[in-house]
Amino acid sequence: MNSKRLDKVVSVSNLVRLIRRMDEYEIWKRAVFVRDRFTCQQCGARNGRRRVIEADHIVSITLLVRENKVNSIESARVCNALWDVNNGRTLCHSCHEQTESYPLRFIQNR
Ligand SMILES: [Zn+2]
Repeated sequence: MNSKRLDKVVSVSNLVRLIRRMDEYEIWKRAVFVRDRFTCQQCGARNGRRRVIEADHIVSITLLVRENKVNSIESARVCNALWDVNNGRTLCHSCHEQTESYPLRFIQNR
């Protein structure tokens, strides 16, 4: 058993969870929604009572964290790749669930 490796895996997923709670994440999400006019880029649904829109990282946060060696909230804050609006797209909840990068699915597959 390599416990060092296990620690690292746990900390990446914890870090992703923390990143999703950052102010920068809210700002990024808002910018993606505004650019896409609050419309799902997959099926064209608009935000409303029946549909909830979400912002999807096209290249997942987990991958960006690994590739850019982000290991703290501070390094996440200055990692431009995480906050690139061009790496975001607006999806409704049902389209988001079907993407490869959907958080739950991602965790289950690993
Ligand atoms: Zn949709």
